Amino acid sequence: MKARQSIYLVCLLAFINGCATSGSVNDKDTDKPISNEFQKQSLLGILYTQTSTEFVANNIQTFAAASSYLDQAISDQDWTAALEQTDNYNEKPPAIILDVDETVLDNSAFQARTVIKGLSYPNGWIDWGNEASAPAVAGVTNFLQEAQLKGVKVFYVTNRVAELEEATRKNLKDLELPLDEDRDVLMMKGESGWASDKTSRRALIAKDYRIIMIVGDQLSDFLSRPETALAPEERKMLAFKYRNMWGSKWFMITNPMYGGWEASIYDFKYPDDENTATKLRLENLQP
Ligand SMILES: [Mg+2]
Repeated sequence: MKARQSIYLVCLLAFINGCATSGSVNDKDTDKPISNEFQKQSLLGILYTQTSTEFVANNIQTFAAASSYLDQAISDQDWTAALEQTDNYNEKPPAIILDVDETVLDNSAFQARTVIKGLSYPNGWIDWGNEASAPAVAGVTNFLQEAQLKGVKVFYVTNRVAELEEATRKNLKDLELPLDEDRDVLMMKGESGWASDKTSRRALIAKDYRIIMIVGDQLSDFLSRPETALAPEERKMLAFKYRNMWGSKWFMITNPMYGGWEASIYDFKYPDDENTATKLRLENLQP
């Protein structure tokens, strides 16, 4: 009986732990262990996004490159940026798909709080989202306003939970970013049964539009999640596999704070304890 009770206790603790650490609220999927010291390991990545001119210049450069391809992408009816777009797309009106977090909206202030408070994502994430005060990533506003003027439909495909839809809408509108209301252009995770994998949402857009560009900060903003779930060295090969897409059809924003690159270090299973996570981080250094 005692053994059985112990098993129940272990199961209960595992369940509670699962509740506490699962349920990715956006595309971070970072169920990190929590401690001030562990959170501080993110410090330089966050400072890079918040204090470096290099980061700002890189983002301006990325969106300038996207702008420079707009006319060609619009006029060339064979041009498509979506792997989900397979046939009969030439006559369809052009659209652009962007991820939201760290692609359009800069959440580095939330990340900074995690270091200061020693509380990792998802703690405080919904509160931050509801503040609707994230600034725009440098360069994105001009790019999207230009695209809209040229008749390109702008879609946001995000793994923010549906609960944050209204706040996200407000945040985007306050920043004067295009947000059409004639159809659902802000596609949240959990809305209409959409899961983390963005493939089905891209396919849905591809039914009515020719997707001419995709912008994101994660490989899974462009590819299916299973395709990107690889160990770091194998995963890097995907950058070369799709070399013809980058810089004209696909545009990647640098995110040194979190993401699939980190999950890859843990074989896509975030460790339950920070010592294991730190050990895996160290083991992945290449001296
Ligand atoms: Mg993102």
